[in-house]
Amino acid sequence: MERITMTDKDFTSCCGLYCPDCIWFRNNFSYLAKELLDRLKEVNFEKYASIKSPFGSELQHYREFLEVANFIAKNYCAEPCRKVGGCAGKPCKIMLCAESKGLEGCWQCEEMGSCEKFDFLKPRCGDTPYRNLLKIKELGYEEWIKERSPHYIISGRDKIHPESKSISRKIQSFPFSQGLLCHVPSLDKLKALLNPHAARSYLNQAEGGGNR
Ligand code: SF4
Ligand code: SF4
Repeated sequence: MERITMTDKDFTSCCGLYCPDCIWFRNNFSYLAKELLDRLKEVNFEKYASIKSPFGSELQHYREFLEVANFIAKNYCAEPCRKVGGCAGKPCKIMLCAESKGLEGCWQCEEMGSCEKFDFLKPRCGDTPYRNLLKIKELGYEEWIKERSPHYIISGRDKIHPESKSISRKIQSFPFSQGLLCHVPSLDKLKALLNPHAARSYLNQAEGGGNR
């Protein structure tokens, strides 16, 4: 199995977000959504749902469900945006702008803190990108990560993804193969991710370390 060693810089995005904290990054639910969609397709559930009946009137929203489930299934993110050009591989205007200016990130830009390109991040991340940019500028790639702000401003995020901070450092050497972005990885690779404890165990085994 191929091992990819990542650096703190790899996980430090231009906008100041830390990719391993993102809800999409190496998640397990995209795989589960794909599995669910496949099973439903096997039994032609869409046809069943299209029949109007007093039993299961909620199924009239099935198309909307499919739209959401397909979005979740397709947005699996295997690599940090710096490696693949944007969140889930989609071109990012922040990255493109920083690159066009020859910058490694927005912490090197004089418009940091007043740039309108950050507006789309505000509903979920608030001022976290700006606060993190200040930390990156002050502390550099290796040290800022320990002092980063919570990725999301929604309450309960830590409960949703409680292991994210503790395993994020180890994820740097997780043996994913290249080019997994935006499609669901193989079953074998995802088995280790289906729960955080399995992932941790796998990572410990891979690194020969104890359970930290
Ligand atoms: S793709 Fe853009 S918005 Fe997303 S984390 Fe990277 S730099 Fe930030
Ligand atoms: S103008 Fe500056 S702060 Fe805004 S996206 Fe471009 S590099 Fe980043």
